[in-house]
Amino acid sequence: TSKRVLKAEKKEAVSHLASSISHEVRNPMTTVRGFLQLMLHTDLSEDKKKQFLETSIDEIDRANDIICDYLTFAKPTPDQVETLSLKEEIERTLQIITPLANMNGVEIKTNINDVTIKGGNQFLQQCLVNMTKNCIEAMPENGQLSIDTKTERDKVLLTISDNGKGMSEEQISRLGEPYFTTKGSEGTGLGMMASMKIIESMNGKLNVKSRLNEGTSFIIEFPTAE
Ligand code: ADP
Ligand code: MG
Repeated sequence: TSKRVLKAEKKEAVSHLASSISHEVRNPMTTVRGFLQLMLHTDLSEDKKKQFLETSIDEIDRANDIICDYLTFAKPTPDQVETLSLKEEIERTLQIITPLANMNGVEIKTNINDVTIKGGNQFLQQCLVNMTKNCIEAMPENGQLSIDTKTERDKVLLTISDNGKGMSEEQISRLGEPYFTTKGSEGTGLGMMASMKIIESMNGKLNVKSRLNEGTSFIIEFPTAE
């Protein structure tokens, strides 16, 4: 019966998810294990130790991001929908991404209204961090990341834009496809999939404008909370 088929499909989806997560998380774990093992050597310089620890922390963060991005796939709605101040949420995102922006020489400009929207704060953070990180990663030099909001009657338009490498039409159309990445082994191709799922779950809409070698704008439309 169709019910049985559905059940079998669900099972397959779950086991596929499980094997993907284990596969993706194993890489950072292997890296961290290798560094910890290296640190067993007592003759390491302080500099080297610091470098190994920093890389290990980065890899653990990476494993955590991968798990979070997969989880939105398994569980696309938050446990609790709250009224969120978009301004406060963006400020929180900025705290998280500013070190990465500084490391990449990216300047951040914001112009944000006080407006409230409905959603789960962790999901929204994940979405904002994923998208702003993509922008920063697209700007090899003299980058400028802009975050603006514009309120219109019962909705707010949140624009996140960069002046980075941009995307071709084909790349734009593949955004959100699981594992689509142009970053080789550095990328997971899960960030946009998760972000788009989250925006959808908040009844939002995503519009992408991008031009090769000019930059990209993500325009997210959220209904405001009333
Ligand atoms: P990842 O960042 O791990 O590659 P994502 O799902 O976050 O995976 O992004 C998928 C791909 O979309 C990226 O590899 C990149 O090619 C493209 N992309 C996303 N955001 C941007 C951007 N702001 N500028 C240029 N390309 C982008
Ligand atoms: Mg990404």
